[in-house]
Amino acid sequence: MPRLFTAIEVPDEIGLALAGYRGGLSGARWIDVENYHITLRFLGDIDEETAQEAAYLLGQVRRPPFEVTITGPDAFGGGRPRALVAKVSPSPAILELQAEHERLARRAGLPAESRKFAPHVTLARLRDASPRAVADYLGLRGGPPGLSFRAEQFVLYSSRDSVGGGPYVVEAAYPLR
Ligand code: ATP
Ligand code: MG
Repeated sequence: MPRLFTAIEVPDEIGLALAGYRGGLSGARWIDVENYHITLRFLGDIDEETAQEAAYLLGQVRRPPFEVTITGPDAFGGGRPRALVAKVSPSPAILELQAEHERLARRAGLPAESRKFAPHVTLARLRDASPRAVADYLGLRGGPPGLSFRAEQFVLYSSRDSVGGGPYVVEAAYPLR
């Protein structure tokens, strides 16, 4: 069964700039730059028919391009940090696009996503990184990097069946216009 998710791609020049965050934190497994992305809706491992239906419904989306702004590095997981991310500004445009993907996913028969959407680019997975080390890292790197780009499309990515992880493959691209 294909494992699918919708996302905004990270342009090469933005990925290059974000790669500047790599290094300097022990216990971090840094994500390859070519795998950077902003997940909108994780669809999961779904059957071929549901995948076809989702792909069709995504093709019905009509929305204009919008600006994506990186607001800076942060950690997810609180007292047990599990991911280092570059946060993305939760602009009305990206929230509305995500909400539309959520509605389409349900219309395709998928269970509702209960977690609140927090747009981000994952930079590293953390294993045994101490909260203190993460706070120190963020203290040195913190602050908005002044990075933004225009999203002209969203994509349907597949990752490796069942297990996830890159390389991610663009199965379909949907223009914003
Ligand atoms: P790995 O878990 O092996 O490091 P990955 O998480 O990048 O790989 P997938 O598990 O296929 O690969 O996930 C694809 C994208 O969907 C990632 O951005 C991931 O953060 C997100 N994602 C995965 N599982 C969920 C979930 N249950 N809810 C919301 N988003 C998810
Ligand atoms: Mg995963």
